Amino acid sequence: LKDVKVDKELMELDKKHFIHPTSSIAQQQANGPSFIFTEGKGIYLTDITGKQVIDGMSSLWNVNIGHGREELAQVAQEQMSKLAFSSCFGTISNEPAIRLASKLASIAPGDLNAVFFTSGGSESNDTAFKLARHYWVLKGQPNRQKIISRTQSYHGVAMGATSATGLKPFRDFTNSIIPDFYHVDGTSSEALREAIEQEGPETIAAFITEPVQGAGGVNIAPEGYLQEVRKICDEYGILMIVDEVITGFGRTGTMFGVNHYGVVPDMMCFAKGVSSGYAQLGGVLFSEKIFDDLKELSKGTLLHGYTYSGHPTACSVALKNIEIIERENLVENAKLMGEELLKGFKYLQSNHRIVGDVRALGLIGGIEIVKDKLTGESFETPLSPKLAEEAAKRGLIIRTVTFDQDTLVFAPPLVINKAEIERMIDILDETMIAVE
Ligand code: PLP
Repeated sequence: LKDVKVDKELMELDKKHFIHPTSSIAQQQANGPSFIFTEGKGIYLTDITGKQVIDGMSSLWNVNIGHGREELAQVAQEQMSKLAFSSCFGTISNEPAIRLASKLASIAPGDLNAVFFTSGGSESNDTAFKLARHYWVLKGQPNRQKIISRTQSYHGVAMGATSATGLKPFRDFTNSIIPDFYHVDGTSSEALREAIEQEGPETIAAFITEPVQGAGGVNIAPEGYLQEVRKICDEYGILMIVDEVITGFGRTGTMFGVNHYGVVPDMMCFAKGVSSGYAQLGGVLFSEKIFDDLKELSKGTLLHGYTYSGHPTACSVALKNIEIIERENLVENAKLMGEELLKGFKYLQSNHRIVGDVRALGLIGGIEIVKDKLTGESFETPLSPKLAEEAAKRGLIIRTVTFDQDTLVFAPPLVINKAEIERMIDILDETMIAVE
């Protein structure tokens, strides 16, 4: 029941003491938090005032199995009671980390069979960049230090991940990036080839790409793109890193995004869906070939490791999460419900002049907002933030992308059903009628 006093007190404490990640400090100070969530169940979140909304983004593209899973709480409680944490540095190990590494090797494509654990996506990408550079030093090619990524990409906020991120405002925010990071047009593999030729293949360590760019506006890799990239990387001896932080663990209707393209990268970064957000966990899967080289060439200490690499509680939660994804056929559900979502988007497109391009691959989707779809003209000030705000009032939380785009983005939990998708589309329909 609504407790206005607690509500007000929390609003004030939030404004005074809590710096929100990826937020507008000015807006936060003016309005305070828009929701203070207290509970979640399935695709729904409930806030402190009792208002229930659909979590159309799986929070941050990560709560794949939906909210409120008792089984995960139980497994965390059991593991915490037995052994909440112990180190994995050096030769020390623990059973949940070993079992999770082995499980990931069994579900990952090709020979991606060895795992380095982190606490999230940014750390995973920084790990991939550092170990790619280290790998070339060991291989006697220390000049291979450059990392190439795509425009419109998002790889996180650690210094390496920020430097690789193609969305320029994220790099500008830091006012500097690490040297030797390059960005190429993300829509054609020829741009990658040209950059390699221009920079000199012998200076390039790795290329990184998301199978579907999430924060860049749900841009699905063009037909044949990943296959071409794999060929180019092989041709020039460059390591291919795939960032599956959003696309992993069923999001796109296959276990991993690369499964759509039949491509096996040299390193695959994951986070988010590995634990559905019930614990902080990420990692990098390495191909057998790279791991064999490391085993053969690495003589000293691998000077890279996070306190929480191989965290036993996080790993046991992830194991149970993957068990649920498999047991409940959530990858298949994401594929089927993704088709329903796209159908809904097309319905909106045929009914609203502000709906431009629509796209979805499994349960990750985007609706581009234009002033007039017939002329393709865009709004001077993006309209998607207003649409998202109005949708939230009507019970649906979604996000927007306004860098070089005006796009509403969606990534509902993989447990969503047809009626719930229809409810999402109804809310969007009502929202567009109100705002248009
Ligand atoms: N890579 C991709 C594709 C992401 O979408 C994100 C986060 O949204 C990250 C990396 C960074 O992950 P984290 O926020 O867990 O550090």
